[in-house]
Amino acid sequence: MSVRTDPTWRAAASVVDPELRVLTIEELGVLREVATEPGSGRVTVTITPTYTGCPAMDVIRADIRATLAAAGHPEVEVVTVYAPAWSTDWISETGRAKLAATGIAPPGPAGSAGPVPLTLTIRCPRCGAVDTEQVSRFGSTACKSLWRCRACREPFDHLRAF
Ligand SMILES: [Zn+2]
Repeated sequence: MSVRTDPTWRAAASVVDPELRVLTIEELGVLREVATEPGSGRVTVTITPTYTGCPAMDVIRADIRATLAAAGHPEVEVVTVYAPAWSTDWISETGRAKLAATGIAPPGPAGSAGPVPLTLTIRCPRCGAVDTEQVSRFGSTACKSLWRCRACREPFDHLRAF
């Protein structure tokens, strides 16, 4: 996907995921479409949730409205589209790099995931060891699972792949 330069898109794209914080909804692949109606200036923003159980989506909707209002678009409709379903493949390269930098293991390709298999090896984002174990299916948020590195003994979050 090429970088969008439309100012309305850029405004919506600046909204940060409230749970991952370092990632914008554009980098996360949540932001799908921004359409401005000629004449009325009404903006329709289309998003696809990362995970239906994420309460973060309500926060994201509110943030999109607030950000666009500040950018001069008081009339904003946020449309949620569930198909095609969001996939971790939609996370941009920048997003993956940011995830790795913050200690959240970037998800592998969605096709190989399914329910996180116990045999799946996730590299420790701190020391790089592959000797890791899943501690809990749920990490700091419902979207992440908690893992621990046997080498450095540090726990880390892994963004669940779907
Ligand atoms: Zn480690």
